[in-house]
Amino acid sequence: MAGKPRPPRFPRVALIGIGLIGSSLARVLRRDGLADHIAVCARSHATLDKARELRLADSTTTDPRQVVEDADLVMLSTPVGAYEPIAQAMAPSLKRGCIVSDVGSVKMSVIRDVTPHLPKSVHLVPGHPVAGTEHSGPEAGFAELFEGRFCILTPEPETSETAVKRIRALWEHAGMMVEQMDAEHHDKVLAITSHLPHLIAYTIVGTATDLEDHLRREVVRFSAGGFRDFTRIAASDPVMWRDVFLNNKDAVLEMLGRFTEDLTALQRAIRWDEAEKLEDLFTRTREIRRGVIDANQA
Ligand code: NAP
Repeated sequence: MAGKPRPPRFPRVALIGIGLIGSSLARVLRRDGLADHIAVCARSHATLDKARELRLADSTTTDPRQVVEDADLVMLSTPVGAYEPIAQAMAPSLKRGCIVSDVGSVKMSVIRDVTPHLPKSVHLVPGHPVAGTEHSGPEAGFAELFEGRFCILTPEPETSETAVKRIRALWEHAGMMVEQMDAEHHDKVLAITSHLPHLIAYTIVGTATDLEDHLRREVVRFSAGGFRDFTRIAASDPVMWRDVFLNNKDAVLEMLGRFTEDLTALQRAIRWDEAEKLEDLFTRTREIRRGVIDANQA
């Protein structure tokens, strides 16, 4: 019987961004001794101080060019809108053979924004650990965040297989089930499973915010009726989600178009007392929930 694969080791890791996802990965690297040195880059000294205090960083800097020096693995874990200037800044000091990967929620824009800046001797393996919470910052992370969740890698066909294998091994070691697909497919799938639900949550909570004062107060009091779950999703990081929508425009707009049509059909069914139509839909959607539970993703 094959034993557990050896954990991947990276002598020097550069983490650019040390929020929920970056700090959770740093905790895995630390817990299991997967890196000898973790160099961390963020914009603010407050974040870098926190990362040191939590013992997640061996060295810190606000300079992307400095943080990647001699790194074997560079993990981008900032909002995706920041990738282009970071890639441009870090490119000249990337070591030959280094792997550049990321955790962004959108994948086509990574290839678009990062690839043109990278030297040929560097391997880009875009990735998306599909795991998270509505909290942000280095204190919000925890090593178990990734356990039992999917991670999607979207390398280009010509990418070094060894580099892809190493990133796969890293996420598997963190407890994830790793899938590979092309970036365009990823962005379509995530548009419906993650991006649209967030947009709907932001809309509902926004609508409630705009209600007259007395109604708004009642919405909060009786939020357990369903609204509460939307407020959790709508509390997610505003910058991260701004960047997701601006960088997955086409897929989100396509899914939003379909959703709007379906919503209009539902509106009509309610108006015309089409009980059977409503019940049919609600029965089908219940099946989807069962599927999610069966896949251990509830
Ligand atoms: P977060 O908690 O808000 O942390 C973002 C980090 O990026 C902070 O350390 C921030 O540093 C740093 N940063 C921002 N702009 C920067 C720049 N220009 N240069 C250097 N550092 C910069 O964010 P997160 O939730 O971990 O999300 C990070 C990435 O993971 C995003 O691309 C997101 O799409 C993806 N993702 C998120 C989730 C989720 O549920 N949250 C799930 C899967 C994937 P400062 O504090 O100094 O600004």
